Amino acid sequence: MGSTAVTDRTEVVVVGSGFGALATAKKLAKAGTPFVLISETTEHLFQPLLYQVATGVLSAGEIAPSIRSILAKYPSADVRLGRVVDVRPDVHEVDYVAGGVVHTVGYRSLVAATGARQAYFGRDEFEKVTYALKTVEDAERLRRQILRCFEEAHTTTDPERRRNLLSFVVIGAGATGVELAGQIKELAGRYFEQSFHDISADDVSVTLVEGAGEALPAFGGKLSEYTKQSLEKSGVDVVLGTFVTDIDEHGATLKAGDEERRITAETIIWSAGVRANDFAGVLAERTGCATDRAGRLLVNPDLTVGGYADVYAIGDMTSLNNLPGQSPVAMQGGRHVARTILGKQPVGTRFKYRDKGSMAIINRFRAITRVGKIELSGFIAWVLWLAVHLVYMVGFRNRYVAVMSWFGSFLGHRRPHFHYAQEQHRLDADVPDDVTVTAVPARVDRAPEKKPEPEKVSVR
Ligand SMILES: Cc1cc2nc3c(=O)[nH]c(=O)nc-3n(C[C@H](O)[C@H](O)[C@H](O)COP(=O)(O)OP(=O)(O)OC[C@H]3O[C@@H](n4cnc5c(N)ncnc54)[C@H](O)[C@@H]3O)c2cc1C
Repeated sequence: MGSTAVTDRTEVVVVGSGFGALATAKKLAKAGTPFVLISETTEHLFQPLLYQVATGVLSAGEIAPSIRSILAKYPSADVRLGRVVDVRPDVHEVDYVAGGVVHTVGYRSLVAATGARQAYFGRDEFEKVTYALKTVEDAERLRRQILRCFEEAHTTTDPERRRNLLSFVVIGAGATGVELAGQIKELAGRYFEQSFHDISADDVSVTLVEGAGEALPAFGGKLSEYTKQSLEKSGVDVVLGTFVTDIDEHGATLKAGDEERRITAETIIWSAGVRANDFAGVLAERTGCATDRAGRLLVNPDLTVGGYADVYAIGDMTSLNNLPGQSPVAMQGGRHVARTILGKQPVGTRFKYRDKGSMAIINRFRAITRVGKIELSGFIAWVLWLAVHLVYMVGFRNRYVAVMSWFGSFLGHRRPHFHYAQEQHRLDADVPDDVTVTAVPARVDRAPEKKPEPEKVSVR
C-alpha cells in the first residue's frame, strides 16, 4: 500500500458523504477552499428516514441524493467515489481504492467522517440471519423481505408457516427499533390489510426486544413509558429486560433472568448497537489515538485525532463527552472543524455541542421530543418530528415528494414504493424452469457479493 506515489494534492481531504462530511464540505465549498471529498457511496444518505424506505413510504432516491450533485455548484469541490483504506499522517497522505486501483492524495488537513455500522457484540454470525437498517441496500432488502412474507403468507396453506411469515422480531428498542416495530404493525393494518383480504393486522405479530428496562432508554422516565404504552396499544409486544442468546433463520432465543424462550419468525431485524466503521481503526493505529469498546476514536476536545493537529474526526466514528451518535453532533462537529481549518477560530478551539433537543417517532401521530426541560409526546411531537426532518432533507424536490408521500401514507393508506418492490421481487425470484406448480422461493435475498481485493498499483 505504501508503494503508491502521490498523484495529486489538495488543501483538505474529507472522507465520507454523510451528515458530518457534508457539513464540513459545504463550509469549505462556500469559502472556495479546494478539497477532495472521498466516499465509498455515491449518495448523501438521510439515515433517519431509512425506515420509511423499508416500509414503502418513500423511495431511496428521495432520502439519498447524489453527493456529487449537491456539491456540483461549488468549483472548489472535487468529489471522488472510493474507499479510503490508509493514511500516513506524518507525510499528509491518504490512500483510497477506486475501480480496483489504489490512489493517493496529499492534504494539508484531513477530516474523517466515516460513521458507524451494526455491531453484533461478538456474535457476527447474527449478521447473516438478520436484517439491518443502516444503508439504502439494507432498507430495500428489508422492504423486499416484508413484501415477500405477506405474499407468501397469502399463498401458503400451512398455518404454522403462515404464522412464522407474519411474525417479525425487532432486536433493540433504540430509535431505529422503535420506528421499525411501530411501522411494521401500522403497515399491516393500514396497507396490507387493504391489499390482502385474508390477512388482518391481528394476524401479524411484532415483538420488540430490549435488554434495558425501558424502551428508548436514551430518553428514560415518562417518555420511555409513553413509547412502550403507545407501541403496546398499537399491538406491538414490547419485551424489556430481555437479551437475545441465539438467532437462526427460523427465530430467536430470548433470555430474561433464568427464563429462556424461543420466538419463531422469518424476519428478525437487528438494531441493537453500532460500532465505528473500519477506517476508525486504521486512523487509531496510524495516529496512536485510543478507541472505546465500540471502536470509536476518543478524539481530543478540539476534534483532532491523537497527536496530529491537522487530522480531525467527527460524528459517529468518534466518542467525546458521551455525546449521542446523532446527526446534529456530526453536523456541528463538521462545521466546527471547517471553521478551524478556514482560520475562523483559533487552532485548538474546543468543540461545544449545542443540544437543540432530541426526538423519536413511534408510529403514525405519535412521537416524543425533549428540548431542555420541556418534554412533549403524542401528536404535537409527531408534527414537530416531521417538520424538523423535512427541514434537514436535502433538495426542494425531495421535500415536496416527501410531504406528498406522507399525506398519502399517514392520512390515506398508500405505500407507493411497495409497487416497485413487488417488481423487484418478481425479477429476483428464482423459480426453476421445470417447476410447474406454484412455487415461491424460500428466500429471494442473496448474500452480498464479496468485494474483490483491490489491485495495488504504483502511479507515477
Ligand atoms: C436507521 C437510523 C435512524 C436514525 N435516526 C436518527 C434520528 O432520528 N435523529 C438523529 O439525529 N440521528 C439519527 N440517526 C443517526 C444519524 O444518522 C448518525 O448520527 C449520522 O448519520 C452520523 O453522521 P456521520 O457523518 O458521522 O456518519 P454517516 O452519516 O453514517 O456517514 C458515513 C459516511 O462515510 C462513508 N464511508 C464509510 N467508510 C468509508 C471509507 N473507508 N472510505 C470512504 N467513505 C467511507 C459512508 O459511505 C458514508 O457516506 C439514525 C441512524 C440510523 C441508522
